[in-house]
Amino acid sequence: MINVTKTFFPPIEEYNKQIKRAWDNQWLTNRGELVLELEEKLKQYLTVSNIIITTNGTIPLQIALKLLGNNGEIITTPFSYVAGTAAIVWQNSTPVFVDIHPEYLTIDETKIEAAITDKTTAILATHVFGNPCHVEAIENIAQKYNLKVIYDAAHCFGVKYKEQSIFDYGDVSTCSFHATKLFHTGEGGAMFTNDTNLRHQLFYSHNFGHNGPLAFHGLGINAKMSELQAAMGLAVLPYMETIIAGRKKVINYYNGYLDFSKLKALKIRENTHWNYSYYPVIFETEVQLLKVLQQLKEYKIMPRRYFYPALNTLHYVSSVPMPISESIASRIMCLPLYVDLSEEELKKISQIINTSIC
Ligand SMILES: *Cc1c(COP(=O)(O)O)cnc(C)c1O
Repeated sequence: MINVTKTFFPPIEEYNKQIKRAWDNQWLTNRGELVLELEEKLKQYLTVSNIIITTNGTIPLQIALKLLGNNGEIITTPFSYVAGTAAIVWQNSTPVFVDIHPEYLTIDETKIEAAITDKTTAILATHVFGNPCHVEAIENIAQKYNLKVIYDAAHCFGVKYKEQSIFDYGDVSTCSFHATKLFHTGEGGAMFTNDTNLRHQLFYSHNFGHNGPLAFHGLGINAKMSELQAAMGLAVLPYMETIIAGRKKVINYYNGYLDFSKLKALKIRENTHWNYSYYPVIFETEVQLLKVLQQLKEYKIMPRRYFYPALNTLHYVSSVPMPISESIASRIMCLPLYVDLSEEELKKISQIINTSIC
């Protein structure tokens, strides 16, 4: 079976070496030595000035929305993983959807202003598949209307835009270290901000609001990463160059083999140093996509319809139609992408796709 992704497992001895440190310290959580070391190493790897690592990539969205969303209307994208929209509703805020750009697949910045009302408090946009949103235009709109900007950068490990980490953009940026993501800690995530005051708020919010053992800065929740998770991160991190190079090879293969007369690949925004995190292909029709899925399934190849459905169609939200997102969501899927896919497997996948669409 070939799945859309395969979790990277570091050599078990290297994981054991890290996990043994937790045994030696007799310390499992509350920002122990491993969590602190992983934060330092990630800061260097990602070239960011600060990071707070967390137990998953969804709770940073909830914390950011809690601090910045003010229970208002949050402008967001219908084309993303459900975590963002769900977090908005979960925080008792209201998602207001803005359709996406048909090629970059990120929120269409030219349509944001029309969706702003006097209840709008923030924009929550996703850098889809590691492809940056138009961050400058969004920043200008946010300044003009006094809105906060939160980026769901779950897919963006290592992405740079204009030579700067993509996590540096927006008031808060978040990442996921879930087992299916480029860099992982099993479950895990991170939040980033360059605002000192906001960083303080994010930090205490992720640890019950504590200010020492007996006092509290304010309201908080538990989003702390454990030493067990950090051990995995410390064992995976040294392999990132290998992982990214391996994925680049797979993507170059697809780029060379697939028949793009009837298919479209993702258009990466200019000035982006991308991370090869996903390989979405867009078919001309949903019928074609379903036919390809069926064919691949016969060879036990399981791509994923990612993202489907468009989030504005979730039954717990209300929205006007989002024609571009709904259309793309019905015609897009992510092809298998992981380090040790063989040329033979890639050839088979590409041939099946090319023959089913012709
Ligand atoms: C994976 C993902 C999340 C959620 O992250 P978890 O670590 O699984 O909580 C949020 N947004 C997007 C776009 C994702 O792909």
